[in-house]
Amino acid sequence: MKLTFWGVRGSISSPLSNAELKQKLTTALKLFIESPYAQSRDIEGFLPTLPFATGSTHGGNTPCVELESHGETVILDAGTGLRPLGLDLLKRKPASGIIHLFVSHTHWDHICGFPFFAQAFDPSITIRFYSPFSDLQKRFEYQQKFDFFPVSLDFMQAKKEFILLKENEPVTIGKDLKINFFIQHHPGISYAYSFRDKTGKAVYSTDNEMFNADMEYVNAYKDFIRDADILVFDAQYTLSESFNKTTFGHSSPTFGVELALNAGIRNLILFHYDPLYSDEQISNNLRTAVDYYNLVNTEMKKYADKKLKVYSAFEGFSLEI
Ligand SMILES: [Zn+2]
Ligand SMILES: [Zn+2]
Repeated sequence: MKLTFWGVRGSISSPLSNAELKQKLTTALKLFIESPYAQSRDIEGFLPTLPFATGSTHGGNTPCVELESHGETVILDAGTGLRPLGLDLLKRKPASGIIHLFVSHTHWDHICGFPFFAQAFDPSITIRFYSPFSDLQKRFEYQQKFDFFPVSLDFMQAKKEFILLKENEPVTIGKDLKINFFIQHHPGISYAYSFRDKTGKAVYSTDNEMFNADMEYVNAYKDFIRDADILVFDAQYTLSESFNKTTFGHSSPTFGVELALNAGIRNLILFHYDPLYSDEQISNNLRTAVDYYNLVNTEMKKYADKKLKVYSAFEGFSLEI
């Protein structure tokens, strides 16, 4: 199983500004002048030495993750990252002609890429939409009403099938990819999905507020994510900001680490960053998460047997299990 990230920002798309670009260039040029690469003008050799927040960006697109399992194309959410994913899929057409789209919920940032999904205009493609929302089709149609978008959902020629997921009735895709869902704390409800095939288990859990959650919810959540090889986790805020934004429906990297350690997760991927956060801030949040992990794991020996890896998702990042 392999996950590739096409959009990692929460709430609204947030492209890099000119001021941020200028700041990155200034920092990079200063570092270059002071580096041993300056003498030989070896720019190609120097670039990989830059910190991530200086030499790269997490990207500005909203949630969209591609999951590949035994040749099946599965997409998690249809944020603006769906547009570049669609363009890339044009070069490597889905083998079966079927695209499986799992929708966590229908807040704009998770569906507004769909009208720009190239495959939705291809009559040879079937798109299967999955969610426990009984009115999911109506919601997607509503997004493309003429007052909001010039092309209706109906006009998009791909075959569209809406599959209603039911509790305790996992669905199977292809040979052995089994999917379950979990109802999360979020305004209007969102769903986490777990995917299991022969290679392992991945959980996609975005738009989920853990602060103020009662123990019953926390325990049920831990059971759902337990022993996952990959957990994609809502890390919208810093820990302190999450205390000030209760009821907003989001979590923080520190919560992610604590839950991952408690539930035996192998790889924790932070995701759905606040649009106000710069690349620098997101890198700081990752550092805080890793520091917290080192504190509880190494110094307190609380989880000394656990081997957790923590990543910050960025556009183009992929992880295979
Ligand atoms: Zn969101
Ligand atoms: Zn949301």
